[in-house]
Amino acid sequence: MKVAKFGGTSLASAEQIKKVCDIILSDPERRLIVVSAPGKRFKEDIKVTDLLIQCAESQIKNGRAEKERNAVIDRYREIADNLNLSGHIVDVIEEDLNRRLLSNTGNEDRFMDLMKAAGEDNTAKLVAEYLNSRGVKAEYINPKAAGLLLSDEFGNARVLPESYDNLRNYLSARSGIMVFPGFFGYSRGGDVVTFPRGGSDISGSILAAAVQAEVYENFTDVDSVFAANPNIISNPKPIPELTYKEMRELSYAGFSVLHEEALEPVYRMGITVCIKNTNNPSAPGTRIVADRTSSNGPVVGIASDSGFCSIFISKYMMNREVGFGRKVLSILEDESLSYEHTPSGIDNISIILNQKQLDSEKEERILKRIKDELKVDDIYIERDLAMIMIVGVGMMSTVGVAARATGALARAAVNIDMINQGASEVSIMFGIKASDSIEAVKALYHEFFE
Ligand code: ASP
Repeated sequence: MKVAKFGGTSLASAEQIKKVCDIILSDPERRLIVVSAPGKRFKEDIKVTDLLIQCAESQIKNGRAEKERNAVIDRYREIADNLNLSGHIVDVIEEDLNRRLLSNTGNEDRFMDLMKAAGEDNTAKLVAEYLNSRGVKAEYINPKAAGLLLSDEFGNARVLPESYDNLRNYLSARSGIMVFPGFFGYSRGGDVVTFPRGGSDISGSILAAAVQAEVYENFTDVDSVFAANPNIISNPKPIPELTYKEMRELSYAGFSVLHEEALEPVYRMGITVCIKNTNNPSAPGTRIVADRTSSNGPVVGIASDSGFCSIFISKYMMNREVGFGRKVLSILEDESLSYEHTPSGIDNISIILNQKQLDSEKEERILKRIKDELKVDDIYIERDLAMIMIVGVGMMSTVGVAARATGALARAAVNIDMINQGASEVSIMFGIKASDSIEAVKALYHEFFE
């Protein structure tokens, strides 16, 4: 069977849901369907998940959220009406929201996840109902009944290993089309827990791995993954095929087509992922596979992401000091900070972090501790950095890629603060000032694709 996941813009309106159902029905293998919550219909629109977050916030703060609740119900009512469904499904959705709103708000994170999950859960019910109204046998699948168990990290859950057997046993015993809500599952204690934002991609991947799907189709609103961000490069080249590793690096570094955590389950099983467009389903899309034969040059894509900072530490004879790196990193660990890279020299080390994690108080505390406990000569922090990543398996066997990249950046007068080439040689990363990132992407795209 094929697992087909549809993103928020594919479910944003009745018209979009009709397209989704046409796609499902055009291939009898598409039996396990994963849905997001209705997304934006136009640029200024608000996603249902964001409406639900507003709803939860108001309930926590004011003990009431009628206005926000009604905004959610109105979105579903409009969709149901335009799909000519009876009012029954809207009553079901309304009751569901009321029930959620009545639960205890004492644990705010728990309550927030319960509310956020309502978007996907009710969309799955609505899509199943619509398929039934078209005379097709389809059922809504409850993730709790199906055994999708997650860690109890609210808003940031990870799948628990027993989920795979649970899901396989439950889902393979069913016939007809199954509509599974994305984005959430249950903790062992029975609470609703969600993945990070955009996490329905992860749900689809887990399901594809569990049922050992022939392919995991991820339907979104673009024809394919492109070699660079279309907001920076007009008409960038489409990428017909990528390896899991390449996609992982690109999504980590800013390609938002697929959630960066979504590849792990399918990668382990070697299941092909196909990124496709709901609005243009006949376009071939992008295939993500274990090995790639076709190659159009060493670099397949260029990604950029900003919002990083670097803690620079220097100490004479650092290379001779046993345990220096461990001590620095354990100070970060004490502050619950995760780091991205640690480029180093003989007497210095930089630690690159996502700067969102670091408020000024934390920053002061960490710098002081490193200074006092490790007796360093110099330490400072640089904010507003961007990471530019060039990615491609072809780089491994091509001489001169780094020289071409640095040459292109030099010609664009972009100063490189840091270079990092992973041992895998699938990517080279450049740390630069965030204000230079557009110029840098343009220069690299020109060098490798034009
Ligand atoms: N609806 C959720 C979000 O907006 C999850 C998803 O769409 O994948 O983040």
